[in-house]
Amino acid sequence: KGKNGGRGRVIAFERELLSEERYQRFIERELRAAILMDELEIHYQPVFGQDGRQRSVEALVRWRHSVRGMISPGAFVPIAEQSDLIAKLGQWVLRRVCADVPRLPTKVVAINVSAAELRHPDYAARFAEEIAAAGLMGERFIVEITETAPLHKNSAERKNLEFLRALGVRIAVDDFGAGHASLGYLRDLSFDILKIDRAYVAEITSRPVDSMIVESICKIAKGLGIEVIAEGVETPEQHAALVELGCTGFQGFLLGRPQPLRAKIEAEDAAIKAA
Ligand code: C2E
Ligand code: MG
Ligand code: MG
Ligand code: MG
Repeated sequence: KGKNGGRGRVIAFERELLSEERYQRFIERELRAAILMDELEIHYQPVFGQDGRQRSVEALVRWRHSVRGMISPGAFVPIAEQSDLIAKLGQWVLRRVCADVPRLPTKVVAINVSAAELRHPDYAARFAEEIAAAGLMGERFIVEITETAPLHKNSAERKNLEFLRALGVRIAVDDFGAGHASLGYLRDLSFDILKIDRAYVAEITSRPVDSMIVESICKIAKGLGIEVIAEGVETPEQHAALVELGCTGFQGFLLGRPQPLRAKIEAEDAAIKAA
């Protein structure tokens, strides 16, 4: 992803100098410190319904590095996933999101959770404690998990998801269609939302096969009572096509970029002053 510009290149440069293992340990050490020093922040991206109303926001973590500037999660989440650091990162994110809830523009907020976090037998119990401490109900949360291997019965992952759902948390399969377990996920019936990977959205108006796949997924999902959110909506043509095909939620740069809460408040203040 080139959107970090120079920052991404500095990391890439260090990556060339250091062995893979040393690079990983280097990032790990810095990230551990960053969590302690509150150098991370959350940007929120809106999700809209068919009626054009904002329904929820997705929390996306960023690392505001003192030297390197803003680092995107794609550059550090996979490294955090290699150790217990991912649990610390996830806990930091949930705590910050809970603190932000009163200032969010929507009642519902989605957070991304790694498969590595869900593997911890007490993930859901800790989640429950964290939101209870903030006085929040599970209904306010969506947990997005990336499509991975099928979740076996009696696995820790599965039990955590069931626990979360019992709290009222909705479960979304992120990047649906990008992995390999797509139909298994549908058969499972343990999900509430499918988020169609943006690879399908990107060519929805130019590749008939992509629009046929999305239309079929929407039909199946409708029959199962599952919501379908299209990710990465960048043009009005894509948006119109996705509405036509039966998607029920829409997210993407066309509709709203991820942004820090402060920017939202300032924008609202500016709008109030301008009015
Ligand atoms: P994701 O959950 O699929 O999030 C969507 C990504 O697509 C975000 O990238 C978002 O900025 C980007 N995006 C949104 N709309 C558009 C669009 O219209 N066009 C394009 N090209 N991109 C769009 P981001 O923020 O860099 O996050 C990347 C991934 O990092 C996320 O993918 C998610 O898997 C992971 N991630 C983010 N925050 C967290 C977190 O707190 N915990 C964990 N475990 N993973 C996270
Ligand atoms: Mg997501
Ligand atoms: Mg996604
Ligand atoms: Mg993703």
